[in-house]
Amino acid sequence: MISPSLENRKAELPLGRPGDRIFLGVEAQHKIFQRLSGFPLAQQLSREVYDFYGNHLVYIESTNFSSTIFTLRLHHQPLLLKSAEIQLQLGTNRTAEALAHELLHLHLFILGFPLGEIVQIPFPFDHYAQEFLGMCHWVLNLIQHELNYQSFVALGFDKNHFLGRSDDPIDYRKRLSPEYQNGYPAQVDFPRWCMDYLRHFFVARHGGDENSLDQAQDVLTWGSRLYPQLRQVIAEIRKWFEIGAFKVPSQYPNQVNFLLELMGIPKFIGWARLELSYQKTPVAVRLEPKLFLTPECGRGGHWETPLGTH
Ligand SMILES: [Zn+2]
Repeated sequence: MISPSLENRKAELPLGRPGDRIFLGVEAQHKIFQRLSGFPLAQQLSREVYDFYGNHLVYIESTNFSSTIFTLRLHHQPLLLKSAEIQLQLGTNRTAEALAHELLHLHLFILGFPLGEIVQIPFPFDHYAQEFLGMCHWVLNLIQHELNYQSFVALGFDKNHFLGRSDDPIDYRKRLSPEYQNGYPAQVDFPRWCMDYLRHFFVARHGGDENSLDQAQDVLTWGSRLYPQLRQVIAEIRKWFEIGAFKVPSQYPNQVNFLLELMGIPKFIGWARLELSYQKTPVAVRLEPKLFLTPECGRGGHWETPLGTH
């Protein structure tokens, strides 16, 4: 039975489209558990996730969704955890896999990995804030995939189902044309090339096919014609992953910011982690800036952002 407080919270949620089914708290856990039938280790993971997030856990499933995502919703002033949500796209050939994939994202915060809360967009690039915020979260998402890929396989899933279907191949030679650059300054365009390299490189590492490696190579070949420094930056990015210091939660914010800086993407100037209160409810706590900021951090606009992606 659903508690009265959950009924109140349910009433606050957007109604969604016909066919969207919304579950909260223990109801969410039961539904997720059913969806993971045949994968007992993933079912155990769903219990752990519920034990931590409790009534903050929101699960929505629908054939209307075009992808499966997770979102951690925060209230920023004062800092509060609002919800930990998973939206599952039904009707695909990897329903349980996609659900377990998102549970692993939520599980990282239980393990003590902080979440990036505030990004500083340097003046005069505030016009590109949404583009930069998208890159920041994409980078976080890819790093989390690196942290989760082995766990996914250990849950008993096929490694080729860690990610959804890949996109159509991109002709990077065409991206040299002035139309594609469309007036983007190098300070925004260069990070886009780095981002493209990183995502293909990681699809290849996380169960993708050989085409992904070819695409990563294409980015390097064509991108370095525009930006000769791309080769050196990509070599440093690969070294960063091999060293793997980001796998330690206390090192993670600093390490992520270092990677963002390599790629020319604005850094997170606010990080938070989740922990259980004495009342056994999850609370968000800000990290001290000294744990992730270098003193030379400059001026710029601050952008608050919920954390969530595929
Ligand atoms: Zn993911």
